[in-house]
Amino acid sequence: MKAPITQDVHTIPRKLPEGDRVNLVGLTRDGLRDALLAVGVPEKQAKMRTGQVWQWLYHWGVRDFAQMTNLAKEFRTTLAQHFTIDLPEVVTRQLSEDGTRKYLVRIAGGHEVEVVYIPEENRGTLCVSSQVGCTLTCSFCHTGTQKLVRNLTAGEIVGQIMLARDDLGEWPEKGAPNDPQGRLVSNIVLMGMGEPLYNFENVRDAMKIAMDGEGIALGRRRITLSTSGVVPEIARTAQEIGCLLAVSFHATTDAVRDVLVPINKRWNIEVLLDALRDYPKVSNSERITFEYVMLNGVNDSDEDAHRLVNLLHGIPAKVNLIPFNEWPGAPYTRSSNNRIRAFATILMEAGYASPIRTPRGEDIMAACGQLKSATERQRKSRAQIAAEAGL
Ligand code: SAH
Ligand code: SF4
Repeated sequence: MKAPITQDVHTIPRKLPEGDRVNLVGLTRDGLRDALLAVGVPEKQAKMRTGQVWQWLYHWGVRDFAQMTNLAKEFRTTLAQHFTIDLPEVVTRQLSEDGTRKYLVRIAGGHEVEVVYIPEENRGTLCVSSQVGCTLTCSFCHTGTQKLVRNLTAGEIVGQIMLARDDLGEWPEKGAPNDPQGRLVSNIVLMGMGEPLYNFENVRDAMKIAMDGEGIALGRRRITLSTSGVVPEIARTAQEIGCLLAVSFHATTDAVRDVLVPINKRWNIEVLLDALRDYPKVSNSERITFEYVMLNGVNDSDEDAHRLVNLLHGIPAKVNLIPFNEWPGAPYTRSSNNRIRAFATILMEAGYASPIRTPRGEDIMAACGQLKSATERQRKSRAQIAAEAGL
């Protein structure tokens, strides 16, 4: 058996050292209950108090214990003594001509991650990060060139949703319904920086909070987790999160996928497809989205399209064709529009929905795969990237 991939990532402990206040954002319901018990809430009140605090945090978006008006004054003081309600800090906010917003946010330790909000006609999608940087090194991805890596905590992940709702003014007014239909942030995609399945527990806890009906209340079909193909965690994702799944597929032969998505050397196309076959059943969800970045002359031929159709056989799937978002120093170029359309036609004729993703927020470098924190802007040289990509 091959040695497991080791990861030089660490997660900042949730519980701060004795004496420091603990951030309530990101605790699961059980975690919140334990925290309240620890500051003297009697066992028989624990469930009710947990529910009350939870609603203030995630339904009303309150950031100050003093505003939790259905709790006794004394209890509010106790809460403020022991706990905080902390979100990542927004450092900059850029607004694209097309309405896309990109937030650069700072988390503990001074690290920075990016969060992107993409408004569309009948939905608004928030693209959330799960790590600072990424331990994987997909050769076409800007995030993959970033050396610095740290897992985000559950609070830092759900905190990205909360700060976007703050910015968009989207917490319900007192008494107003909190219907996900028609919300500005109606969908979440874990497609920002990082590999979510290398930070499984924190991603799971954050998504559980986002899905909780007494809070942000986004249904599990409004959340899409994108993975490069961390096979051992795919079944767990179905069982423990149950959201929609997207896979960064990007190639139709192992030889090409080994270069584009190097995790393929660990779990190749066949092993990945086997793991995906069970996903819709177990998660009771619909189709899996196959993400396919269109790279000029690398993976965009008619033969590739036909091979892809064959590989997808038997898997409920749709294919998202992503025109490559070029970044400074990238070793690839974007396929032509005609090539992308020809590729899409072959997939559609075989019965697969294959929308071509419209690049959004290009003027602010907010598109997929371009996210990279400002703390690490120095780039590898073009030659270095090309050498690593085996070009
Ligand atoms: N690590 C996860 C999720 C983040 S990347 C994953 O790889 O799935 C989100 C999507 O953007 C992935 O499909 C990724 O392959 C794609 N992507 C990365 N760089 C890109 C680029 N420069 N142009 C277009 N898509 C890119
Ligand atoms: Fe990491 Fe995804 Fe980028 Fe690959 S495509 S380097 S897995 S963020």
